[in-house]
Amino acid sequence: MSEFTALKHDIYCIDALYVKPGVASIYLLQAADEVAIIETGTYYSVANVLATLNELGIAKSRVRYVIPTHVHLDHAGGASEMMKQFDQASLIIHPLGARHMIDPQKLIAGTIGVYGEEKFNRLYGTIEPIPEARVIIAPDLARFEVGNRELVFIDTPGHARHHFCIYDQVSNGIFSGDTFGISYEPMKQLPRGLIPTTPPVQFDPQALRASISRIMSFNPARLYLTHYGEFENPAAQAASFNQWIDEYVELCGRHDSSAADYEASLERDLHNLVLQGMRGDDNARLGAVLQTDFRLNAQGLAHWQRSMRDG
Ligand SMILES: [Zn+2]
Repeated sequence: MSEFTALKHDIYCIDALYVKPGVASIYLLQAADEVAIIETGTYYSVANVLATLNELGIAKSRVRYVIPTHVHLDHAGGASEMMKQFDQASLIIHPLGARHMIDPQKLIAGTIGVYGEEKFNRLYGTIEPIPEARVIIAPDLARFEVGNRELVFIDTPGHARHHFCIYDQVSNGIFSGDTFGISYEPMKQLPRGLIPTTPPVQFDPQALRASISRIMSFNPARLYLTHYGEFENPAAQAASFNQWIDEYVELCGRHDSSAADYEASLERDLHNLVLQGMRGDDNARLGAVLQTDFRLNAQGLAHWQRSMRDG
């Protein structure tokens, strides 16, 4: 049943099958005898990763590292199940994410608080503690070797404070998690089809702009987005991306943040702003593709605006 795409440079994009195909990616990077898996999807994604390894003829024992870019559950929810399956692997994680992997209770409780228990189980399944001895913390500019390939870890707050991006010299690509936004398949060819993602609770526009310049200082030829797949020539979209950040921020000031319908107003404005800015051929279709993102982004922006107001 494996669903994956072989990219260049010995990189494979495996579908996390999160909600539906085409929403979240897991990357497999191969070098000599070793493999790194970047992003984990959820507990339910692991079956497709195992099927892909099987189809590629890669033994589970060759997985050296499991690397979620940050501890949001569409990225790190499958980490504990992967660590069970890959008993030779270490988990590499941001300094601020490690404790949530070693003791996931707070992460689980927080997410159940947002979604409720039934939806949590349906979306994320089982999350267990990962033994501390198998967890490696990657501070800013840490380097790790996978086979003969070196990965550089870059601290990139803005989407979340526990987020790093990973530079791979072989592909001249960056595994950007959610820092450099999202671009689903129907958006990829649009001049402004790469947009910021700002779910609760750590959106920080200033930090995000700084993280984008840090990413661009590596002159990457491509991004490996989690949502979704390979994205060529990010330099062409960097100015537009920063403009989106400014536009999101501007939109927050249009309404009274203490009003009961603040989030709903932001969601409506985001929908209009983004679809107008993207000028796709088929805005109704894009609107449907981005519906969940507009809601989550509005929630995150509202949370940020209120936390600014309340200090
Ligand atoms: Zn995500």
